[in-house]
Amino acid sequence: MVSRILLHVGPSVANYGVQSSAVVPNIGFASPEFNRAMKYSLEQFRLVTGADETYMPFIIPGGGTAAMESIVSFLAKDSNILIVTNGVFGDRWEGILSRYPVKFKVLRAQAGKAVTTSQIVSELSGGNFDAVTITQVETSTGVRMPMKEIAEAVRPYVKLIIVDGVASIGGERMNASQWDIDVCLTASQKAIGAQTGAGLLVASRRAMEMLQQPSISGYLLDLRNWHKIMENFLSGGGGYFATPPIGTIFSLAESFSRIEEETMDARISRHRTCSEAFRKGVMEMGLDIVALENLRSNTVTGVYIENVDIQKFIRTAMDRGVEFGAGVHPEIKDRYFRVGHMGWVEPSHIIKALNVIGQSLNALGYNIEKDSGTLAAKAVFDRYPEKVQQ
Ligand code: PMP
Repeated sequence: MVSRILLHVGPSVANYGVQSSAVVPNIGFASPEFNRAMKYSLEQFRLVTGADETYMPFIIPGGGTAAMESIVSFLAKDSNILIVTNGVFGDRWEGILSRYPVKFKVLRAQAGKAVTTSQIVSELSGGNFDAVTITQVETSTGVRMPMKEIAEAVRPYVKLIIVDGVASIGGERMNASQWDIDVCLTASQKAIGAQTGAGLLVASRRAMEMLQQPSISGYLLDLRNWHKIMENFLSGGGGYFATPPIGTIFSLAESFSRIEEETMDARISRHRTCSEAFRKGVMEMGLDIVALENLRSNTVTGVYIENVDIQKFIRTAMDRGVEFGAGVHPEIKDRYFRVGHMGWVEPSHIIKALNVIGQSLNALGYNIEKDSGTLAAKAVFDRYPEKVQQ
């Protein structure tokens, strides 16, 4: 088998220490080792999301979609929700909420663009909304929302601010307490960089008060069922509601310990530098970025390629040692590919990715000058050498 680097949009770039810590034969979910891994992961997740101790952290089986769906635990029957969507994953809220007895309205941006803060405020101030959902980084385009600005602007108009941070938390700034965000959620396999299998969220006191009302959620994802055992883990004990993804929790604890050592500030700088170097590189090769310039994320980049079959490009790149993601946004699906530079990404991955993009496109008829992309990327890494761990 070819040894490959995974630069898909999550999971992305495996860390072998983190992956292998998921192999825990003969350790069960009632063991002291598991209880410690849960407690540590819950506490560290609060730190990674900038949530203080008034926030309740949850780790549940599944992934990002499970965490998204679990938020109906906070909604009453007939709640009115504004869905702000910049693409496929923002749209997922519509898919989820349409299964529940709630009302919603969708504010949608075109591919590569973002719904603006003033559009959101004008919609919320003119209606009677209980909650708003916002995707911090839209994985189908790489568009990042200015979360602080939005959260501050919408606070007067809505009770619950719910942020999908699946493609951002662990690689972008999130300050749940300071920005007064009620729910931040993610999945284990994205920028936190652990094994697949868990959804994570923190919920504000305001959100937790909503758990007192009658539930409209189903059984497995009803956070009322998980609340007590999460509290038990936090206080050093354990508990069972449904079997947790044991290996994933150990790998999460390992990720969090590496994040603690690296520090979130350094981690965000590393993501910022790697993403900037990657974008400089592809632009130097004459390619365009999907997200508008002021909306580009640290974690995901969409790159346009014209007159090339995307699947053929993905396979050609894979043969050369890097796996990228295909385009998924319906408006531009056949014209771009996606790169995840998140989790454990390092400069060497970016240089390899740029080399492989150039070689693969040239094999498919482009005429990209050798080393043009990598030299541009190296110039970025040279500017910020102290911020990037090699
Ligand atoms: N939201 C966003 C922004 C995502 O990127 C994803 C996964 N790509 C999801 C939700 C769904 O997460 P999962 O695939 O872990 O269910």
